[in-house]
Amino acid sequence: MNGIGLFGGTFNPIHLGHLRTAQEVKEGFGLERVYFIPSAIPPHKGIADLAKAQNRYQMLAEAIYDNPGFVASDVELKREGRSYTIDTVSHFISIFEKDTPCYLIVGSDAFLEINTWKSYRDLFDMIPLIVMKRPAQTSRDEDFLNTLARYISESVTRGYELAEDKSCFLHAGKQAIYLFDVTPIDISSTKIRNLIRQGASVKYLVPDSVDKYIQTKGLYR
Ligand code: ATP
Repeated sequence: MNGIGLFGGTFNPIHLGHLRTAQEVKEGFGLERVYFIPSAIPPHKGIADLAKAQNRYQMLAEAIYDNPGFVASDVELKREGRSYTIDTVSHFISIFEKDTPCYLIVGSDAFLEINTWKSYRDLFDMIPLIVMKRPAQTSRDEDFLNTLARYISESVTRGYELAEDKSCFLHAGKQAIYLFDVTPIDISSTKIRNLIRQGASVKYLVPDSVDKYIQTKGLYR
């Protein structure tokens, strides 16, 4: 099988920033499928404003239903307790054939707090990461690379080196950390929730089906 991307998040709600960037990663890395994996109980995000996991999953499923390369995964919804990425990655690695390339996809904001994740160092032994730059990180590329390099060496582990073509950080004994330029899309779930609370429209920021679902269920008001 060609590569697989694992894309976890709160998806509260899913928006066009998630969808477009995942599509670009999928094409850029020649992946066969990207699994969207909503967390049931996110360990990091406050629970104010958090829609029920089932609602977040449903919106996600509706948002991607017509894309055969995107899959909605409910593994974290079915697992008891908090949703830890390390458990999810172990699960997926165990179900695919050994030679299937698997990548963990994260935005740069999420990556830059990865040292708060459970067993985060083990992740770098298990799976290569693809880091997508988020628009809030608007600094020059050089500054962004320096920020990542410093963070990796101080908060993850020493020994990662930036490749000559600057496309990834490599380590003799660990998995690669790829950097991938996506179209900067300044949409966040926080922005969506704020707009709804203010009674404003979220049209063209989320898929129509998600907009309708939010309205029908009265979410985020
Ligand atoms: P919130 O505003 O509630 O914090 P969010 O928009 O960051 O939510 P999440 O569900 O927390 O969405 O994000 C899941 C993953 O998608 C994270 O790795 C995050 O960095 C990434 N991501 C979210 N929005 C974008 C975007 N516009 N561009 C690139 N990556 C994104």
